[in-house]
Amino acid sequence: MAKPVTDSRSNRAAVQATNDDASASKLSCVKKGYMKDDYVHLFVKKQLRRAPIINRGYFARWAALRKMLYQFLDCEPNADGNGNIRKQILSLGAGFDTMFFQLQDEGKAPHLYVELDFIEVTSKKAALIETYSQLRDKVGETASISLEKGEVHSDHYKLLPVDLRNIENLNDIIARANLDPSLPTFIIAECVLIYLDPDSSRAIVGWASRTFSTSIFFLYEQIHPDDAFGQQMIRNLESRGCGLLGIYATPTLQEKENLFLDQGWQKAVAWDMLQVYSDFIEAQERRRPCKLPF
Ligand code: SAH
Repeated sequence: MAKPVTDSRSNRAAVQATNDDASASKLSCVKKGYMKDDYVHLFVKKQLRRAPIINRGYFARWAALRKMLYQFLDCEPNADGNGNIRKQILSLGAGFDTMFFQLQDEGKAPHLYVELDFIEVTSKKAALIETYSQLRDKVGETASISLEKGEVHSDHYKLLPVDLRNIENLNDIIARANLDPSLPTFIIAECVLIYLDPDSSRAIVGWASRTFSTSIFFLYEQIHPDDAFGQQMIRNLESRGCGLLGIYATPTLQEKENLFLDQGWQKAVAWDMLQVYSDFIEAQERRRPCKLPF
């Protein structure tokens, strides 16, 4: 069995803690009116107020992912005779992300939503799903929840523990999660692959392209380690034990695209967040943060 690469710049608990940061930052956005999320507060122990620039960054990330997810969920390439379109979402390193619960509320949840993370994280998420009826109702009455195994299984939602660095584990996940590789699948990796060593990230991107016949891979992560901002970002993260182990292998947008093209993807488009903010997010959506008080 392949053994995950270890690196002194990175430790598992510190990388997992970036998930708590993400949830606290999302809650800060929700409280300020940048975005709507009726669930994220259930996942945050200590509420924080983020600076407007951070709120705006999270808003752009959230709005961009939602727009792409809606495009995927709303298009109907595979409608069968009954008009049923079965689609899948696979979230790698999902942390405490609440997208599944939001999509349920909106009547847009896909046929199957699968979330993967380290067992320490999935156990906590499973416990919160068990505790809060708002969450438990969304995964369904008949869901089986195991805190010990860090698993939740229901017909349309699975939460499973895995170390993404082990591709054999990912192959097992297909069966354990009941994923159908022939169905249209949207894969999410939001601030996840950048924490892995470059060989592991490449292996995951290649595995996804080989495994799913029709799929989209949404990657959101850091670029430009060598400008002043990047150097400071890396120092801050390394001092916390969260080395961005992948950033030097793919430091630019072009190299992010090449990562995918080299691993068998037909098309890859990488944008920085300024471009996403000005060209991809709808003007109507953008007006909201502009009107918010500092
Ligand atoms: N995608 C979520 C969480 C980002 S934080 C969001 O955007 O809100 C990064 C997450 O990746 C953490 O929950 C961490 O535990 C997970 N992660 C990092 N390396 C991993 C690995 N090797 N295997 C499984 N999960 C991993």
